[in-house]
Amino acid sequence: MISNSFKHVNSWVFDLDNTLYSPEVCLFDQIEKKMTDWISQKLSITKESADILRSQYWKKYGTSLAGLMREHKIEPEEYLTYVHDISFDNLTENLVLKNLIENLPGKKIVYTNGTAPYAKNVLSALGLLNVFSSIYGVEDADYNPKPEYKAYELVFKKDGLNPLTSAMFEDEPRNLKVPHQLGMKTIFVSPAPKNEPYIDFHTSDLSGFLKHLI
Ligand SMILES: [Mg+2]
Repeated sequence: MISNSFKHVNSWVFDLDNTLYSPEVCLFDQIEKKMTDWISQKLSITKESADILRSQYWKKYGTSLAGLMREHKIEPEEYLTYVHDISFDNLTENLVLKNLIENLPGKKIVYTNGTAPYAKNVLSALGLLNVFSSIYGVEDADYNPKPEYKAYELVFKKDGLNPLTSAMFEDEPRNLKVPHQLGMKTIFVSPAPKNEPYIDFHTSDLSGFLKHLI
């Protein structure tokens, strides 16, 4: 018996990092460090300057990569391979979450601003790889990142997903804006709530939320 707000939903879209595992795992810290190293090396600037640039581009363009492509014409593949080459030792299998996602009625997909091969590594470590029918990365959106409209348009078209019968889980609030405009149910997954008109639900506990849903 699914809760009323989600009765019409037959496609479930999950962000990856800090959504399908807790931010306490600090996996993304490793990636940020690698981004800073890469930017520092390629642009021949100090790590401090690289770190500032990384965060400025993230704010302005959606991802650091999008800023590097726009302002420095970098090729995305080498950068993406480098920054996603990290240790997954801190991730553990989450059988509870696996069962809950499996029991959602309809299609379950992952859509991340990372790459699909990286997402597969994370999902393997979480024991969630076989739960999802498709895994989409930034390469599937021609390197346009969420929160850009074009990114969702490209990925949803590729997937054949109808936003009006879909829900999206995300830890980055701005990434829920377009999905909400498109008619998706939006769930903000984060330790602290945020009051935005484009956030339909908030949870600090994805498994707990899904338990109540089904
Ligand atoms: Mg995320």
